[in-house]
Amino acid sequence: MNREHIYRATIEKWGEKAQYEQMVEECAELIAALKHYERGRIKRADLIGELADVTLMVGQLTWMLGEDEVAKAIDSKLVKLDKLLLDPEGR
Ligand SMILES: [Mg+2]
Repeated sequence: MNREHIYRATIEKWGEKAQYEQMVEECAELIAALKHYERGRIKRADLIGELADVTLMVGQLTWMLGEDEVAKAIDSKLVKLDKLLLDPEGR
């Protein structure tokens, strides 16, 4: 399955604004699922389903905003994280 084809089709059908809104909604659902899972109120599969929703939306928005720019930002953050891990003060 070609993700880029699906991302493009999604924009054509519902528009960009709807995708931003969907991202917010899916993030909220994942936050709620994490709390519910902590308390034993939902199953692991339900949590994974919500994680999959957010992962798909991350892919969609990454594609919309520019995969190269997002990749650069991730690299930059990984460098910062690596430095933090090497810091003996580690905070
Ligand atoms: Mg969801």
